[in-house]
Amino acid sequence: MSLAALTLHDAGEKLRAGEFTSVELTEAVFERIAATDERIHAYLTLDREAALAQARAADARLRAKDDDSPLLGVPIALKDNFLTQGLRTTAASKILGEFLPPYDATTVRKLRGAGAVIVGKTNLDEFAMGSSAENSAFFSTRNPWDLERIPGGSSGGAAAAVASDQCIAALGTDTGGSIRQPAACCGVVGLKPTYGRVSRYGIIAFASSMDQVGPMTKDVRDAAVLLEAIAGHDPADSTSVSRPVPRYSDGLAGDIKGLRVGIPKEFFVAGMQAEVEQSVRRAIGELEKSGAGVEEISLPHTEYAVAVYYIVATAEASSNLARYDGMRYGCRAGAKDLTETYRISRADGFGAEVKRRIMLGTYVLSAGYYDAYYLKAQRVRTLIRRDFDEAFKRCDVIVTPTAPTTAFNLGAKTQDPLQMYLSDIYTISINLAGMPALSLPCGFDQDCMPIGMQVIGKHFDEATILRLAHHYEQTTEWHKKTPKIEDR
Ligand code: GLN
Repeated sequence: MSLAALTLHDAGEKLRAGEFTSVELTEAVFERIAATDERIHAYLTLDREAALAQARAADARLRAKDDDSPLLGVPIALKDNFLTQGLRTTAASKILGEFLPPYDATTVRKLRGAGAVIVGKTNLDEFAMGSSAENSAFFSTRNPWDLERIPGGSSGGAAAAVASDQCIAALGTDTGGSIRQPAACCGVVGLKPTYGRVSRYGIIAFASSMDQVGPMTKDVRDAAVLLEAIAGHDPADSTSVSRPVPRYSDGLAGDIKGLRVGIPKEFFVAGMQAEVEQSVRRAIGELEKSGAGVEEISLPHTEYAVAVYYIVATAEASSNLARYDGMRYGCRAGAKDLTETYRISRADGFGAEVKRRIMLGTYVLSAGYYDAYYLKAQRVRTLIRRDFDEAFKRCDVIVTPTAPTTAFNLGAKTQDPLQMYLSDIYTISINLAGMPALSLPCGFDQDCMPIGMQVIGKHFDEATILRLAHHYEQTTEWHKKTPKIEDR
């Protein structure tokens, strides 16, 4: 087995035990990338020389044995909407051109401080808008389980990199499902923390009232370890909270007896792939056998979530993306005056989906339509959040499918944005309500494509989600299956 196949916690332990060096581990990861990324296309930018320098520095710290950071010497990939000082950052958009950020995102700074090795930047849907990674201005990433299928999105590159051992773990962002849905599509673990748990300073903003940073990993323990490393208050992000960060990895042990699991009836409706429903229901049965109490609950405003999201998210995006004007970053069109510079730079620089959202967002915020759309959407958003508040009076976690289907074929939904938007029907309401949620593997369909189960928790109760997910994972074998990329 290649060292690149190790989990984060295994790799960290073995590094600290001196079984191999960070340079060896980093070399193994780059070998794996060289062997597979021509087919998968997970990475937009690789940073081999800098990574090896970081690995050498980590090896010196490891030899000194005065540092027990679990990330020390471990190669990690970043979605390409994290600012990385001096390393090209594109958000998979032409408009950022060869943008070299002048500083690191707070989460990147934390990873570096903990001694992690930054492998490179992974592909995504342009500005994190999409569910298939096909909206990238550069190329589409392929699903390691079937190269003709999408890896999910928008963190599709990160999910594919983790699933194919092109890194030990990765960080993604999730505004409406972009960590969890690709995690489900690629058979890995993805955790969207509570809004405010992790700093977004230095993340290229999409919809600021929902964007969150989170781990994408090979197992649940790794998600706990990585969350612990990136969570916490950041004075540079006023939405990050100052609650102490629990030792998530210490809380994984223990059973789930007596835990109350809610199953929302609105999430099991027509349109879901039969095998997804069967797998999630079987998983719920397993939780019951482990002593959890399972109860049907209702989240009555679920049916409005997608509509509300595409008003709120596009409104915020239209404002956030106003800064890409051809003057401050990236590419600038040659034009006769300032207005024409804005117009042509934006027309050339943004892709079709981003333009669609800027137009929709500008429309719902415009005088005359603001009350009818934006304000109404914000009111319904409050109702959606209240549904969760009510539900969590009766249960400790909520379990649902992560996505209605397994990964679909490349190109299947690119002509129909509304169909694409439905990929996030089970993840979006969680962002609207600010809750934490994790996706983990719970089965395969008849084509051997992974199926994801979503575990939603109370605000700031990532610990309970992780404990339940870890328990389920340890009593099943799903996380041990890996894609056979060489065979295809
Ligand atoms: N797929 C959703 C969208 O297109 C969510 C994206 C995200 O979470 N960044 O907006």
